[in-house]
Amino acid sequence: MMEHFNIAIDGPAGAGKSTLAKKLAQELSCVYVDTGAMYRALGVYFSRLGLDLADEAAVSEAVSGATVSLSYQDGVQQVFLNGEDVSAVIRSEEAGLAASRTSAYPAVRAQLTQLQKDLAAKENVVMDGRDIGSVVLPDAQLKIYLTASSRVRGSRRFEELKAKGENPDLSRIIADIEQRDEQDKTRKVAPLIQAEDAELLDSSDLDINGVLERMRELCRSHGIL
Ligand code: C5P
Repeated sequence: MMEHFNIAIDGPAGAGKSTLAKKLAQELSCVYVDTGAMYRALGVYFSRLGLDLADEAAVSEAVSGATVSLSYQDGVQQVFLNGEDVSAVIRSEEAGLAASRTSAYPAVRAQLTQLQKDLAAKENVVMDGRDIGSVVLPDAQLKIYLTASSRVRGSRRFEELKAKGENPDLSRIIADIEQRDEQDKTRKVAPLIQAEDAELLDSSDLDINGVLERMRELCRSHGIL
C-alpha cells in the first residue's frame, strides 16, 4: 500500500458519501474526515450566539471565537466546538441548515479549509465534502465524485425516514434535494463541482457493496492499493 495518501470524495447531498467514505477508510486503515460535520459545528456556534445567519459581516467576525477539533473513538469521528463534544447536536436538521447558509462565507471556509489541509498532511485520510478535490486537496492521489439521480437519492432518504416511523412525502423530498443541489452548485465560493481529474461514480444503479467494489478498483488503478 502507498505510504502516504489522501482520497477526496465529493458529491451532492444524499449520494452516500459518508457511508462509503467511512467504509473505505476502515478497509484502508486510515482516518475518515467528515468535513460537513465541521461546517455543522460552526453553524451550531453561530446559531447559539443568536446571530442573523444572513449577516455575513457578523458571522465572519464571530468565526475567530470558534475552535473546531476532531478526535476518534474506535474509528468514529467526534467533533468538538471549543472543547465541547457536539457530535450529536450537529445532526439536527437545524444544524444542517445553519451549516449550509454559513458555509457560503469565505471567512468560514478559510478556517475549516486550513484545518482540513493540516489533517490530510499528517494522516492518510478519506475526506468527504463538496470542495475536497477542487479546493482542499488538489493533489489528492484519488478523487471521486460520487453522485446519483435526485430520484434515487430522494427515494433513499424517503426509506430512511419511513424506517424511523415518519410519514414522508417523496416528491417534497426530491424537490428539497434538487433545491439544495442548486444552492451548492451555484454559490460563489467553492461551489460543488466535479474536479477535472475526479473519477465520476454514479451510484444510481449500485448498492453499497457495488459502490465499494468500484472504489477498491479505483484505489488499485491509482496505486493506493
Ligand atoms: O454533508 P453535510 O450535509 O453534513 O454538510 C452540511 C453543509 O455543509 C452542506 O450543505 C454544505 O453547504 C456544507 N459543506 C461545504 N463544504 C464541505 C462540506 C459541507 O460547504 N466540504
